Amino acid sequence: MTDCIFCKIIKGEIRAYKIYEDEYCIAFLDINPLNPGHSLVVPKLHVENILDADDETVSAVFRAVKRVSRLLLDKLKASGVNVLHNAGREANQEVMHFHVHVIPRYDPHDLKLTDWWRSNVKKLDLEEIYRRIVS
Ligand code: AMP
Ligand code: ZN
Repeated sequence: MTDCIFCKIIKGEIRAYKIYEDEYCIAFLDINPLNPGHSLVVPKLHVENILDADDETVSAVFRAVKRVSRLLLDKLKASGVNVLHNAGREANQEVMHFHVHVIPRYDPHDLKLTDWWRSNVKKLDLEEIYRRIVS
């Protein structure tokens, strides 16, 4: 896609700190990192997000996510990673080219990604949501 910033990075038209490449994907450092080494894994094929991607592309991206995670752990001495994907504008996806965030973690308190652990979903709500999914 001509006006897509990540397609331009893939083609080398815009500079990025590329840390990984294989036949299907590249990974580069996020320009606005949440933690040191925060990287984006991106398929070379332009698709919007996981909902739009074929299974082969999804597999290739997550294989690369695993390799990039290992790379960041090895090279940056990180202890873990958060793997995050925003699919759709409602989910805060800003760049509409499929990408998975790999965020290295060094300490349980080094980053507060969101308040996701403070769930406000009550047991009753869970039951209702479960039924909606399995019906
Ligand atoms: P998302 O909200 O999941 O679409 O996140 C898009 C991410 O892309 C953000 O974390 C941005 O900091 C990052 N980003 C945008 N432009 C660039 C760029 N030119 N190079 C590296 N990262 C970028
Ligand atoms: Zn693109």
